[in-house]
Amino acid sequence: MGRLVGWIAGGLVVFLVLITAAAAGVVSSVFGGGGADGGGCLGAVTTPGAAPAGLSGEQAHNAGVIVAVGERMRVPVRGWVIAVATALQESDLINTGGGPDDSLGLFQQRPSQGWGTPEQIMNPDYAAGKFYEHLLAVSGWQSMPLTEAAQRVQRSAYPDAYAKHEARATEIVSAYTGGTLPTCDGAAIAASGWTRPVAGTVGSGFRTPDRPHHNGVDLIAARGTVIHAASGGVVVKVRCNIAGNSWDAPFSPSMPCDRDGYPGLGGCGWYVEIRHAAVIVSRYCHMVRQPIVHVGQTVTAGQPIGNVGTSGNSSGPHLHYEIHEGYPATEANAINPVPFMRQKGVPL
Ligand SMILES: [Zn+2]
Repeated sequence: MGRLVGWIAGGLVVFLVLITAAAAGVVSSVFGGGGADGGGCLGAVTTPGAAPAGLSGEQAHNAGVIVAVGERMRVPVRGWVIAVATALQESDLINTGGGPDDSLGLFQQRPSQGWGTPEQIMNPDYAAGKFYEHLLAVSGWQSMPLTEAAQRVQRSAYPDAYAKHEARATEIVSAYTGGTLPTCDGAAIAASGWTRPVAGTVGSGFRTPDRPHHNGVDLIAARGTVIHAASGGVVVKVRCNIAGNSWDAPFSPSMPCDRDGYPGLGGCGWYVEIRHAAVIVSRYCHMVRQPIVHVGQTVTAGQPIGNVGTSGNSSGPHLHYEIHEGYPATEANAINPVPFMRQKGVPL
């Protein structure tokens, strides 16, 4: 293919109708209907007696119950993270009574809202099971931001409170699963909360002698390959960039980035930037069509954001991937993504 030329960058529960076959498969297995079992979304508890850092024995015991029930019910691992984050917010993983109303237990479920008897709800195994049962009934929960999925189940007065526990919950769950979490397409999310943006081989590297202004790494993958958010964050840029011109939303029906580019054209093509914690920005260039996320959207690690293409300054389908230390992303704050990702436990 020749060398790739990348862009040089400066309590009530709503039972919803299940739409996706994947969700239907998971639920049917939970309720004994057989069928699909969630495939690679499913995880295994390899260390049931884990003692995640920072948790007391009681908290670790309760976290262990939550992941064990998730495994037994064949809930995709993303659901375990949502459950642990919810329990961190609702009860700090302490099985407790005495909430603001008649809320009880790890998830502060309410007998008056049909969650069960007080005795049942104070049983962590039962409480976790009810949480998962309701989560699995939410259509599309696996692709929702954690807060939204948790809120659909909990109907909390403070929905945004769940999000702040996502990284911690990911770390806790991974202590029970051998250090990594599987995602639905077989990618793994490291305990750091980072994952590979595409399954591809490394092509042109960061600021090589013959390309000193190549501020990212090229990951070679077939046209159409799904690109994933490398970590959780907020989308800060969705743009078409060709030959020195840039377009932000709203986009016209046919943008110049909808066509294949070529070396020398210039530009990142269709691209996305995500701002992460600790002021890291990741950038994803040359997508085949308009990205499927929008500015301001919260995304989770591994969430699909677009598809591999060769728009802009590019000689063939690949993902040009950049990491920046600082916001906004500039040429000056670009760093080599390969050691950065390796340090996050994610070899590219
Ligand atoms: Zn490149």
